[in-house]
Amino acid sequence: MKRALVWFKTDLRLSDNETFVKALNWADEVIPVFVIEEEMLIENELGFTRMGQFRYRFLLESLSALDLKLKAKGAGLLVLKGDAIIEIPKIALKYNVQKVFTKKEIAPEEIESIQEVERELWKSKILLEQFSTSVLHQATSLPFTIKDCPDVFTVFRKKVEKESTVLEEFLTPEKIASPAIIDAQILIKEELRKIRINTDERSVLNFKGGEAEAFKRLNYYLFESNCIQSYKETRNGLVGSDYSSKFSPFLALGCISPRSIYHAIKRFEKEVAENESTYWLVFELLWRDFFRYVMKKHKAKVFQLNGFSKQKVYNLTDKNLDLFSKWMSGSTGNLFVDANMKELQLTGFMSNRGRQNVASYLIHDMKMDWRLGAAYFESQLIDYDVSSNWGNWAYIAGVGNDPKNGRKFDVNQQASFYDKDKIYQNLWCK
Ligand SMILES: Cc1cc2nc3c(=O)[nH]c(=O)nc-3n(C[C@H](O)[C@H](O)[C@H](O)COP(=O)(O)OP(=O)(O)OC[C@H]3O[C@@H](n4cnc5c(N)ncnc54)[C@H](O)[C@@H]3O)c2cc1C
Repeated sequence: MKRALVWFKTDLRLSDNETFVKALNWADEVIPVFVIEEEMLIENELGFTRMGQFRYRFLLESLSALDLKLKAKGAGLLVLKGDAIIEIPKIALKYNVQKVFTKKEIAPEEIESIQEVERELWKSKILLEQFSTSVLHQATSLPFTIKDCPDVFTVFRKKVEKESTVLEEFLTPEKIASPAIIDAQILIKEELRKIRINTDERSVLNFKGGEAEAFKRLNYYLFESNCIQSYKETRNGLVGSDYSSKFSPFLALGCISPRSIYHAIKRFEKEVAENESTYWLVFELLWRDFFRYVMKKHKAKVFQLNGFSKQKVYNLTDKNLDLFSKWMSGSTGNLFVDANMKELQLTGFMSNRGRQNVASYLIHDMKMDWRLGAAYFESQLIDYDVSSNWGNWAYIAGVGNDPKNGRKFDVNQQASFYDKDKIYQNLWCK
């Protein structure tokens, strides 16, 4: 009998999941596994964990939803807490697994962890196979190699739009054969009980993790509300659920694939309307792909102070942690920055306009090391995504892809343009 282990990471869905489909095609039985990385929950020297409470709650909800979905099809999710490098080989041996299937990674730390698991598995002649499940355009469809991937977004976009195609989605499996495993709901409930955050009524959306929630939001934003039709005009908003899609937390954990979103937009364009706004949502998904390929190309350099820019932009030695604390807690004295930082602290979300401004303020006005800001975002954002986060920060710092060598936003001017009547500032700072 052939038995496979499917190591889930940020692909917490059954729809359009090549890894899972390939495992089912190969094996008679599969064991779906997720490892909660304990290290992510330990407080660092800056006073926060790599995975903050909002992120952790969203993850636990997504795991619970995946477990229930698997159960309905005859399986279940084995959820462990620890270190995947140790746990995955241990489970593979315990259940006599011959192959491990998992999602291909692009960031250095994640790649290293797969390589370590692979080495450990190989000692017992267990194979590991990886599939790329988080991009809109597969690397194999791109009209250039990763080494030659353009560093300027517009060049990347034009080439991709002209010469690449988005593949069809993989079908959701009907039935899954699996051996008996421990019920994940016990651990998930126990972990959820430890979380000490409340839902703030000012939150843009009552985000809840999971595949069904992702498709609910997709359906709402496109077919129920038609909000997508005015996305280009509203996308710089700050207040409320509908100024932008809010797909990002679901994409970050892979509760939905960008391909599923793309094909739904194409269906909307065919059945309802096609305009600049429907195009623009796909355009934004290309930014997401872009930062992924940038990470694949420049690897660990993306995380360095001077990034992958040709010239040395920064020469910082001093980390003013008092100033940084003021920025984190939303008490810099600049109300636009503070409102955004409070929203992030109390809800785990911030608009794109807000992110650009608070990042620029920390880097160009406070003259701080941009990586501190990126690390705090990593902890707080429920849509934290390694490539999008670090790529966008490096871009604003001028050490990444910005052809203009950094984006300094005039925060006061931005506030008077995007929050003319101070509705947003009053919402969070009064
Ligand atoms: C400093 C900084 C840090 C960021 N960190 C993250 C992060 O950790 N995770 C994350 O998903 N996005 C990040 N972004 C990008 C962007 O702010 C969010 O994707 C967006 O605000 C999420 O809301 P939405 O889903 O409603 O976006 P929409 O405006 O509805 O866009 C649709 C989708 O397009 C993609 N997208 C849009 N803008 C960008 C962008 N600039 N870069 C990459 N993808 C984009 C996202 O997947 C998003 O869900 C960051 C931006 C900045 C300036």
